[in-house]
Amino acid sequence: MPIVNRVADLHAEITAWRRDLHAHPELQYDVHRTAASVADKLKTFGCDDVVTGIGRTGVVGVIRGRRAGSKVVGLRADMDALPIKEATDLPYKSTVPGKMHACGHDGHTAMLLGAAKYLAETRNFAGTAIVIFQPAEEGGAGARAMLRDGLLDRFGIEQVFGMHNGPGLPVGEFAIRSGPMMASTDTIEIDLEGKGGHAGFPHRGVDTILVGAQIVNQLQSIVARNVDPLDAAVISICVFQAGDTDNVIPQHAQLRGTVRSMSPKVREFLEKRVRQVVEGTANLYGAKAELTYTTGYPVLINEARQTAFAAEIAAEIAGKDKVHNECAPIMGAEDFAYMLQERPGAFIWLGNGDSAGLHHPAYDFNDEAIPVGTSYWIRLAETALAG
Ligand SMILES: [Zn+2]
Ligand SMILES: [Zn+2]
Repeated sequence: MPIVNRVADLHAEITAWRRDLHAHPELQYDVHRTAASVADKLKTFGCDDVVTGIGRTGVVGVIRGRRAGSKVVGLRADMDALPIKEATDLPYKSTVPGKMHACGHDGHTAMLLGAAKYLAETRNFAGTAIVIFQPAEEGGAGARAMLRDGLLDRFGIEQVFGMHNGPGLPVGEFAIRSGPMMASTDTIEIDLEGKGGHAGFPHRGVDTILVGAQIVNQLQSIVARNVDPLDAAVISICVFQAGDTDNVIPQHAQLRGTVRSMSPKVREFLEKRVRQVVEGTANLYGAKAELTYTTGYPVLINEARQTAFAAEIAAEIAGKDKVHNECAPIMGAEDFAYMLQERPGAFIWLGNGDSAGLHHPAYDFNDEAIPVGTSYWIRLAETALAG
């Protein structure tokens, strides 16, 4: 039972939606055109209710089945693009300078719209399917904004499912795992204050470049020597700014970076240890360090039961041998993790074929994946709500 027949008919139409979204990328919460287009379509499909403005620019469609039932399942897509200059010559390439759909959220939105159209047309289930279109996945925590606006309680959502395209995974294949699948991401900013002065008399100053360099090294000792080797952790310092010229020891330096892990326990430990290392090292050299530790997306943790269910649906669509049930977790992050903190559910990778990687200027969502992803959403809703 591969692709849903009706979805094969809808393939061209969904592709046209996807390319229109691709040509008109919008960032973060400013997805006004996209959200309006999504809401319009959901209304045209005959959804029982279409609610806009949840989590600022999020959109929700409510589709009730033909048969009575109390179950409610949430299917989630993201709508935002990235501040990247597109480097393709596609006929539908970005028309907005410096913005592009480099993470395939255009494809995610189009596929969920396709599923909504089908589900509203057929309603061959008992209970309610909720289609969720969120803004600001790329660093803006749009999922959390929708949760704070009462998304789950308001619509009675009992379980939630998410999907992301995966470059490198062949089209027609899926990958998923139970438990932690994507990392938590916290950011750190370290402001160092030393004592600037003449570079020929270093003994009269406190060199923030030397102190910063020691901190960069010491931070790596946390991953290498403090975290259990069987646990995953990443600390990357990505900004080191200090100094203006070659004969002055700079008074200030700033380091910025990301701290990632695969478990809430390791995450908590990392914060504690980063503080000790930053403050201790600065102290050792007589500098002052101010650390701003900002908590970002949580670890994305798939629930075992919903993961098995999602894998089963994927196998129905793609065939059992095309579903990788124990894919490796990655240190990237996803704000769908917030939804999984509130409700049981699962996040799945959908093969995007041999495309450029996510967030690459030459990336493009693969339209050949549309029937696969759309069929997955449809069968998932119909099966979860079989009554
Ligand atoms: Zn992304
Ligand atoms: Zn993404």
